Amino acid sequence: MNKYDFLDIIDEKSQMLDDLADYIWENPELNYKEFKSAEALIHALKSEGFEVTKNLDNIETAFCGSYGSGRPVIGILGEFDALAGLQQSAGALAPDGDGTPGHGCGHHLLGVGSLAAAIAVKKYLESHPGSGTVIYYGCPAEEGGSAKAFMARDGVFDGLDAAFCWHPSNGLSAQNSRNLANCKVLFKFDGVASHAALTPHLGRSALDAVELMNVGANYLREHVPTDVRFHYAVTDPGGLAPGVVQAHAEVLYLIRAPKNETVAEVYGRICDIAKGAALMTGTTESHVFLKAVSPLMPNQVLVRTLHESMMELEAPQPSEEDLAYYRELSRTALADMPKVDPENPIHWQPKPLEELKLRFGSTDVSDVSRVCPTAQMTGATYAMGTPGHTWLRVTQGKTDWAHSSTRHIGKILALATVKLIENPALLAEAQTEYNNNIGEKGFVSPIPADVKPSAD
Ligand SMILES: [Zn+2]
Repeated sequence: MNKYDFLDIIDEKSQMLDDLADYIWENPELNYKEFKSAEALIHALKSEGFEVTKNLDNIETAFCGSYGSGRPVIGILGEFDALAGLQQSAGALAPDGDGTPGHGCGHHLLGVGSLAAAIAVKKYLESHPGSGTVIYYGCPAEEGGSAKAFMARDGVFDGLDAAFCWHPSNGLSAQNSRNLANCKVLFKFDGVASHAALTPHLGRSALDAVELMNVGANYLREHVPTDVRFHYAVTDPGGLAPGVVQAHAEVLYLIRAPKNETVAEVYGRICDIAKGAALMTGTTESHVFLKAVSPLMPNQVLVRTLHESMMELEAPQPSEEDLAYYRELSRTALADMPKVDPENPIHWQPKPLEELKLRFGSTDVSDVSRVCPTAQMTGATYAMGTPGHTWLRVTQGKTDWAHSSTRHIGKILALATVKLIENPALLAEAQTEYNNNIGEKGFVSPIPADVKPSAD
């Protein structure tokens, strides 16, 4: 009997898993409104014998399914939300979307790959009763809603001994990177409406305030550390008529830095700039703190465990039929992207373990990484060069390769989880590393206690 027999369940359940991913792809839902996707995953968890808890943290589309008893308790994180405006037909070579939402980040695969892992760990636990507990977490609203950060703030992940996650990508690897903390704040200006030609002297322009605020913020860039990033979008210019002095306008800011403290400091300076813009224009300013995430703290012991698990399992390869599609995509839509080689469009081979590095993005997995030892990996679910959050990801979301590489990730995550269950010393090492990194203060959420989860 092969000691990894429990992983075979993922092959046995392949039709169910692939159909589930396709269903979520076909029903793309946005931040905190993922009702069909959550319901489908909950149905699958119940059918597979997990004990389901809904409404985690009072979020309608957050849930978990647990199986087993005793310690360790290992969490496997799943996501399933889509992105606005990215609808696209499957298997296309050119964009043809109708502007409705689409799965441009591959979360239809993410949620299902993690579910596959939980099912395989359950299979292991069935023949090793009392040796531990696996909990699948259905985490909504990763795209802009940062649900995991709220769930972490409110104690949903307390009691976990470790957690694993993954993300669809262009390469198969254990992810060894830190990234940036962020916060998202909506600034609102109110002035006085007027005719822009007849009575401009009576008007006080909220749109002017937004523009002056952005000019001030752009001057600030020179006087913050080089690894600070901030970006803005004018979400309400006040109206579409240039002949009107706009009485209300809004601008949305996303502020990033490697530490929560630096984000808070830059946020304070940007608030001062907003006040200055209001003073300059005779308008009033208010702002709403929408959400924040911490910087990721990848656990090196767990990253190595994921890497070793990945190296122990034979990686699947794309079929000739899939390769023909990816080659054509590489010759056409992806032709100008870096590292694209139409002869080698899918990098299915596992990548070597990288040194820890800083990546300039953010994720809400970070706040879980500050509650318990956490690591994640990436799967080679897309052709090399495929940019995230584009139609190119949506169109590749239903291929046989997307399905089989997702199931393979499920096996890797399950194997890594079972290694932790079977080897208490390994888990203890991961927890020592976590304790050293988090320090005496422990996890402090960057989200103020009165801020509630919301879709922007
Ligand atoms: Zn994503």
